Amino acid sequence: MPYSIMLDAGHGGRNPGAVYNGRQEKDDALALTLAVGEILQNRGIDVEYTRTTDVYESPYQKAMEANEAGVDFFISIHRNSYPTDNTVSGVESLVYDLSGIKVEMAENINEQLEAVGFVNLGVKARPGLVVLRRTQMPAVLVEVGFINSDTDNMIFDNNFDDIALAIAEGILDTLGMSGNLPKDTPASSVSYTVQTGLFRNQVYANRLLDELQEQDFPAAVTQENGLYRITVGSFPTLDEAAEMERRLKRAGYQTLVMSR
Ligand SMILES: [Zn+2]
Repeated sequence: MPYSIMLDAGHGGRNPGAVYNGRQEKDDALALTLAVGEILQNRGIDVEYTRTTDVYESPYQKAMEANEAGVDFFISIHRNSYPTDNTVSGVESLVYDLSGIKVEMAENINEQLEAVGFVNLGVKARPGLVVLRRTQMPAVLVEVGFINSDTDNMIFDNNFDDIALAIAEGILDTLGMSGNLPKDTPASSVSYTVQTGLFRNQVYANRLLDELQEQDFPAAVTQENGLYRITVGSFPTLDEAAEMERRLKRAGYQTLVMSR
């Protein structure tokens, strides 16, 4: 079984996160999260996302999504900020407490980012953060430089691909998967779908399936480990899955984009 990781782009929608000269944390976080996800996907990790578009979900909702999906790890990507501009720069990673594999993963991510050019501000315990406290799996929140540091923004913009790779490598190092060559499979072998429900009770699963099909959504049910998963569509690209996710959200459904 491949490792599964839920990637969380910090903030979103009406919550921009930190803002500096019109630059919004939520946008940097989303772009980087999608880039990291693509790399991990190509290395054989099962990647899921809390969001793939500019939408708001509370940190509590994000943690619950990860718990419901039963992923092995949760990685939240943010940009930092400091009360005064251009005062502090560097990367830091936050964890619930300083124990277990999450600390090792956080240290590995920081070291990889340091190699790209950021100052390494270390790993810190933040037991009060909801996405760290309420997730049931090892969780790391990475602050990828300060958004109100011109130095960090320059590193971020000039080395975007290397930064995405650094975060992915930090994760893979921890899982003993570093140095794996990207799987030699055509991109078309990966597909995306949108999960709209996961049930123990088949009656509830079928009810949702019927409801979606009546609205002409291409819904399907699959059974694994005693759970009934309702998914909509099968898409060759994340963009197409995200478009379907938007339609489903507008129709009032809880959604989760998954790769398979
Ligand atoms: Zn943030």
